[in-house]
Amino acid sequence: MQPRIYFDNAATTPLDEAVLAEMMPYLTNHFGNPSAVHAYGRTTRAAIEKARKQVAQALQVSPGEIFFTSSGTEANNTAIKGAVTSLGVKKIITSKIEHHCVLHSVEACHEIYGTEIVFLNNNELGEFDLNQLEQELANSKVPVLVTLMHANNEIGTMMDLETVSRLCKTYNAYFHTDTVQTIGHYQFNLAENPVHFLSGSGHKLHGPKGIGFLYIHPDIHIHPFVHGGSQERNMRAGTENLYGIVGLGKAIELAYQNFENYRDSTQQVKSYMKLQLMNNFENIQFNGADINSLYTVLSVAFPPSPKNEMLLFSLDISGIAASGGSACTSGSDKGSHVLQAIGMDPQRKGIRFSFSHHNHLAEVDDVISQLKEILK
Ligand code: PLP
Repeated sequence: MQPRIYFDNAATTPLDEAVLAEMMPYLTNHFGNPSAVHAYGRTTRAAIEKARKQVAQALQVSPGEIFFTSSGTEANNTAIKGAVTSLGVKKIITSKIEHHCVLHSVEACHEIYGTEIVFLNNNELGEFDLNQLEQELANSKVPVLVTLMHANNEIGTMMDLETVSRLCKTYNAYFHTDTVQTIGHYQFNLAENPVHFLSGSGHKLHGPKGIGFLYIHPDIHIHPFVHGGSQERNMRAGTENLYGIVGLGKAIELAYQNFENYRDSTQQVKSYMKLQLMNNFENIQFNGADINSLYTVLSVAFPPSPKNEMLLFSLDISGIAASGGSACTSGSDKGSHVLQAIGMDPQRKGIRFSFSHHNHLAEVDDVISQLKEILK
């Protein structure tokens, strides 16, 4: 059987072996409830606090500002709903290309609490209209939350964190950013570019699934999202996902210890893939920004072809994992809200190839030759 090629790292990443090794003792010998006062509990409590430090160090913040959640989804829900229910936010400024866990949280706030929603315009690259953001902030008479993703998971376009952070500070707005796709892949300096809330997820950086975290600025106090025990300093009840937390801590530590190596090798694979696609296929287009773009994501708009319908499936049959979408809204295929929002030609087929440091240039050659075969 031919080896499988995994180019879907924006969906999830394989668990790093060193992360698994770090987790194993907590799946076996160290099983104590972290809330217990005896030695079993103290051992697992210490592991959780070590992981909290690892996450905090990566962001250069204090460990007390990190709260573990069950996912990036939960972290985003907590920030957005917490801002409305605890901070008196009456208006949310966001975009149409956020992940559904942000979009649907914002919509829920509108339906349940009557929160006003403003969608920033985006251009065909997926860049936000920051003049509109400033106008909206300047004209707002009510407390505002700005929630904008740091990098788009479908097309890779990055938001200008520095400018948005500065605008929110100038106009006293709360700022939440979904960094699920950028934690581990970018260096953050929250002292210079402050945010009120920032969310991350373990499984996008070679950590385990089912674990995320929310950074909350120390000046902010929101009510707990999940009520019950006093875990996570009364912010998020429920016995902790101990091995998940340990894995997330290790994954984030490894990502920053190897930052340049991982970034450069991943960037190389993306650039090579782009070049080879341009060299081998006519009329190919790319979605999203070219320069301010996540180095893990390459979104391709393949030209109209009768083969497009089956393209992802054909890739899968050839042993290649990627993901895709269309801009169409017909039939049962609802299409991608992101590709629609950037106005991708609905006749084209959007395929997202997303990479990690586990990938190699030789895999790109294989994918290109399979694509040539499929599309000939
Ligand atoms: N935000 C973005 C940008 C994502 O890409 C994802 C996952 O695809 C999430 C949030 C949700 O994270 P999780 O899978 O941990 O719930």
